[in-house]
Amino acid sequence: MTGWHPSNSDSFEARIPVGPTPITGVLEVPFPAPADGPAEVVVDTMLLDLLPHPVFAVAVDGDDVFRFIYTNDSYRALLASDSSTGDLRHVVPANALVAHVRAFAAAARELRTVSFEAEWGSTPPRRVAVDVTPIVGTDGVCEQLVGAAYDVSEHRRIEAELAHRTRHDPLTELPNRVMLVEWLHAALAKAGDEARVGLVILDIDHFKVVNDSLGHEAGDELLLTAASRLGRVLRAGDQLARLGGDELAVVCHNVSSVDDVLTLARRLRAVFDQPFSLGDDEVCLGASVGVIVSDGPNETPTRLLRDGDVAVFAAKELGRGRVELFDDAMRARAVRRLEIESGLRRALVRGEFRVHYQPIVAFGRSEMIGIEALVRWEHPELGLLEPAAFLEIAEETGLIVPIGAWVLHEACSQTARWCAELPQQSPLSIAVNLSARQLNDPELVSIVDSVLAATRLDPALLTLEINETVLVENRDVAVDVLGQLATRGVRIGVDDFGTGQSSLAHLSVLPVDTLKIDRSLIAGLGRHRQDLAIVSAIVGLGHALDLTVTAEGVEDELQLHTLRTLGCDLAQGYYFARPQPGQVVRALVHHRFRWSERISA
Ligand code: C2E
Ligand code: MG
Ligand code: MG
Repeated sequence: MTGWHPSNSDSFEARIPVGPTPITGVLEVPFPAPADGPAEVVVDTMLLDLLPHPVFAVAVDGDDVFRFIYTNDSYRALLASDSSTGDLRHVVPANALVAHVRAFAAAARELRTVSFEAEWGSTPPRRVAVDVTPIVGTDGVCEQLVGAAYDVSEHRRIEAELAHRTRHDPLTELPNRVMLVEWLHAALAKAGDEARVGLVILDIDHFKVVNDSLGHEAGDELLLTAASRLGRVLRAGDQLARLGGDELAVVCHNVSSVDDVLTLARRLRAVFDQPFSLGDDEVCLGASVGVIVSDGPNETPTRLLRDGDVAVFAAKELGRGRVELFDDAMRARAVRRLEIESGLRRALVRGEFRVHYQPIVAFGRSEMIGIEALVRWEHPELGLLEPAAFLEIAEETGLIVPIGAWVLHEACSQTARWCAELPQQSPLSIAVNLSARQLNDPELVSIVDSVLAATRLDPALLTLEINETVLVENRDVAVDVLGQLATRGVRIGVDDFGTGQSSLAHLSVLPVDTLKIDRSLIAGLGRHRQDLAIVSAIVGLGHALDLTVTAEGVEDELQLHTLRTLGCDLAQGYYFARPQPGQVVRALVHHRFRWSERISA
């Protein structure tokens, strides 16, 4: 309340703070107060009664003695009573009485506006905010109080609802990450130097598959079931929250031993051993669980959550469905991953990727007929890195898509240049690897189109190699995308064939041109009879399907000899040449290097 402005006149202008906009009313008060009795406020009730908000005036009869002398219509409506003046007990509901008396006394004594909120009545209980302002006589003593009350029940209800929402997950009604962080703060503060706090993070394995295949409603149902099952496993004092997506977490207070937390974590994980019924379907899903226990007084919720996530990641990496306790080696690996990831982003911008080329040799012509492009990363500190050091992270982060596009462009333009330099020779073909992410990239076909257009490479010279398992796992996409690529004349190769689950029946629906036998099988040639049988069967079946069969990883003469005997078409491996930079391979290309003596050995 901005306040009343007493003057020597007998009327005041009152600015009554009703809600955000103060309302101005006129009160007529005999001022100064008549000597024979307490001051009375004579209110221009016509105006104040029109106000939509409760307004009142109170006479101060002595220390802490108050008497209502005016209430407007709204006030009486809020009170649901006809009592309008007199003893506080008639005008203020019992549960708000103490708060009123305290505020009136403070306003009268300290000569300042006092604001307070009180529970008001019971049917239904309202939340009322009240401002009380003293009217001070010339003697400096407060003779009256005027105030406004407003019903803030709805306001507070919405506030409470919003506060609840910012701390709870709307689906499971479980506390969310915000509240979990608050719990951790509180638990760590309470634990002090001695006690420890445990955090268990659960990540449901393959949750996305449920969402994608059975729909989001099934996913929601699964989460609800999982949350209620987990709730039943908790011990007294453990707190369960949903971190988001398919991640749930439990805070354990006063941990006496790490084993206790691990035991709980295993019981939480075991909740997933039972199948979930989702509508007509039954699904079995595991959970990967990370465990972290606080370490000393400098522990923070952020660090616990971060390291808990690292432990979950480790559980996933080690085959999912496991419980892993965080340790320092995990952190080191996580840091390294992060470095690689940010390094990869920088590498794209700074042009640190290189393409190395490995010759592919034809048995029949004893010469190099093609090359495979293999990406390398010229790391500013670590030197030349092979794909094993970064490809998995590039795949997980999706960075393989731009990296792969760059490799494709680089390899195709290099090959086109070599073909142009040697027009009299039969053209060289180029094999470029495609990962699962690239295969699933909706832009793949247009990327290939624009690279072919920009480099003017004959599409028939380009083979895109895709790992056998990737093809099988993404069969529907593969049928569509590879079909589109095949109509452009691009050739498709199955890489690392013979180790995955695929049968040739899987492949027969795909427009595949070449089969590359996995180097683990080639390594077994001459050593394991079984490998010889498998390689022989692959060559036979490949030829029956009219496919060109390549052996990769050929390292010695015995392997080469065996492959030749089996009728394999092409070979690639250290026996001929390692993958090398373009300028080295260029010399081989220019001299159309022949390995006749080796091939015919
Ligand atoms: P891959 O496509 O099966 O390539 C053959 C791998 O075997 C290459 O490893 C090559 O250096 C290696 N190799 C060739 N001959 C021999 C041999 O005689 N003995 C042995 N022990 N190894 C041999 P690299 O270059 O480390 O590449 C590994 C994998 O990374 C590739 O396997 C391919 O799946 C992937 N990759 C490489 N470059 C790219 C790329 O540009 N894009 C994508 N998406 N994947 C790539
Ligand atoms: Mg390959
Ligand atoms: Mg391979």
